[in-house]
Amino acid sequence: MKILAGNWKMNTTFEEGYNLIEALKTELSPERLGDVVVVLAPPVVQLTQAIDLLIDYPEMAVAAQNGHAKDSGAYTGEVSMAQLADAGADAVLIGHSERRQYFGETDQDVNAKVHAALNHELRPIVCIGEVLEERKSGDHLAIVEKQLRAAVAGVTPDLAENLVLAYEPVWAIGTGETATAAQAQEMHAHLRGVLRDLYGDLADHLPILYGGSCKPSNGAELFAQPDVNGGLIGGASLVAADFIALVDQLQKA
Ligand code: PEP
Repeated sequence: MKILAGNWKMNTTFEEGYNLIEALKTELSPERLGDVVVVLAPPVVQLTQAIDLLIDYPEMAVAAQNGHAKDSGAYTGEVSMAQLADAGADAVLIGHSERRQYFGETDQDVNAKVHAALNHELRPIVCIGEVLEERKSGDHLAIVEKQLRAAVAGVTPDLAENLVLAYEPVWAIGTGETATAAQAQEMHAHLRGVLRDLYGDLADHLPILYGGSCKPSNGAELFAQPDVNGGLIGGASLVAADFIALVDQLQKA
């Protein structure tokens, strides 16, 4: 499965979100999408707008950007995985580096959220990636492997088939700097090997997305890598023409 996911972060008004989705619906016919599944992650207040607009577009799914691991309770300001599923979301981003960096999410939090999402039939898009110092140290493969193993600890093979991974080098997110295709492939192949160790042949079917300043000028080369099964797109997902160009590139890859 190829996936192009758009992470809108804390951007867009209701009207902007509406216009973006309408533009995608107009351009992205099932024929044009081919085997690409689009996942849109709007701000949580616009989740139901997106779900309603895409009700007749099963090839475009809706994800939340975060969710709480507990189903309910006294957690002011939080939204649970149970509530996201109840609202009609299909998927949820978990462990995005901005959540780790600004909100103190740990590998343990990420693991609890992965379990909660799977329990509520939300597809977890699990984000992992190294910071610049870690890449410079040369230990990036081992560091990201550790994040992956922690994130999916205790996830049984029957549930693992719903996992999606997003490798996002933190130094490439929102910086304009992208991993080279070779750097992305090296990490994706390594993560595929870890998944094979954990889940056997299922590893070949689990999508591993690349994220980090992915845009039309570099998408085709990244998507051409054998272990890159799609993208998690931040900035370029807010511009309909750019996101559509990335869909086309992924479809042709
Ligand atoms: C992201 O936030 O997941 C991301 C990849 O952002 P950008 O594409 O803007 O680097």
